[in-house]
Amino acid sequence: MASIDNYNFDGKKAIVRVDFNVPLDENGHVTDDTRIRGALPTLKKILDDGGTLILMSHMGKPKGKVNPKFSLAQIREDVAKALGRDVKFADDCAKAAEAAKDLKPGEVLLLENLRFYPEEEGKPVGIDKADPAYAEAAKAMKESQKEFAKTLASYADVYVNDAFGTAHRKHASTAVVADYFDDDHKMLGFLMEKEVQAVDNILKDIKRPFTAIMGGSKVSTKIGIIENLMEKVDNLILCGGMTYTFAKAQGGKIGTSICEDDKLDLALDIIKKAKEKGVNLVLGFDCVAADAFSNDAHQTVCSVMDIPEGWQGLDAGPVSLAEFTNAIIPAKTILWNGPTGVFEFDNFATGSKVIAEAIVEATKNGAFSLIGGGDSVACVNKFGFADQVSYVSTGGGALLEAIEGKVLPGIAAVKK
Ligand code: AMP
Repeated sequence: MASIDNYNFDGKKAIVRVDFNVPLDENGHVTDDTRIRGALPTLKKILDDGGTLILMSHMGKPKGKVNPKFSLAQIREDVAKALGRDVKFADDCAKAAEAAKDLKPGEVLLLENLRFYPEEEGKPVGIDKADPAYAEAAKAMKESQKEFAKTLASYADVYVNDAFGTAHRKHASTAVVADYFDDDHKMLGFLMEKEVQAVDNILKDIKRPFTAIMGGSKVSTKIGIIENLMEKVDNLILCGGMTYTFAKAQGGKIGTSICEDDKLDLALDIIKKAKEKGVNLVLGFDCVAADAFSNDAHQTVCSVMDIPEGWQGLDAGPVSLAEFTNAIIPAKTILWNGPTGVFEFDNFATGSKVIAEAIVEATKNGAFSLIGGGDSVACVNKFGFADQVSYVSTGGGALLEAIEGKVLPGIAAVKK
């Protein structure tokens, strides 16, 4: 694998997998350009060196079909503005050979949404997994995926993967394409390198104490990461909706709170494992309960073990928050994924804000703090703290899988 820092793009055509899957409003205008800005260090380096840029990305889930709603043409102007130069557009990503050939150093070509082709994801469409012909269709699709990746590769001299958000997917543009470049002509972009470094800080280069805060709605989607973290952390705060699965598992009355009844044994097992490993497991003690799932519902503070009939816990209570904060402020490494409650409702966002404030304070005292996974990023943005923590990851699923200790195909393919 080459290193983007040392590579000289002068006279080279670089095809860069970016994550330009940006949110659009109903008129097709970009509402948040964080992802475009995130790719700029890589894109500017290539152009400043005297290289040519071919940009490829997916947007939304068009499921292998052309759909103007997901056209990257909608963001062409935004990309041009961010780069400060004109951006050409290829309205068929698999038929862009001519357009790519004609590019001169300093020019930029944006390819249409890769997912307009089913080959990008490499899964057969229009056939059920239970169908006896599925295996054959899947095999054929893998072959056409290789062809598709080879076509993309043919446009350029060098491949750069800077799309951390899709690095956990083995797609044509994120992984397979790398097979068509030799070691010296494929590399990770700066954003990818930063993300990998942030994960390394959490998994390898740990300064202690290490506190992880896992929230969100369910235990089931976080179990892999909880189990991996159990091997590494000093303090593990489990909050958000999973609080009530733990409370019920321990005999609590949780009213109508969110709960995974098939995960009660798992919750008890996590408590047992934490004890065995000497991890300080911090579970919610009290909560802010509501008489409806609504911002305007009536509120009461009660024990998570004794929530009134018909009420549900929608945020962590003051005693829980004091305990959470005690485990966060002295920490030197912090990972936060998932809110303490339904932070989308302003009246139940206090707990998530308190967590964010504690992380900001610990960061000021020298901690490395990584915030990642969709909703916690939305939280720090909502409270305006994004620039007061060490690193806000652009990856949701990719970040969680990396922290689970899984090798991400998008990174492995470039390193191979
Ligand atoms: P996740 O995608 O698993 O990280 O979950 C994030 C979602 O969990 C957010 O949309 C929150 O509104 C939701 N959530 C957090 N706490 C609760 C709760 N006590 N009851 C219902 N939903 C919750």
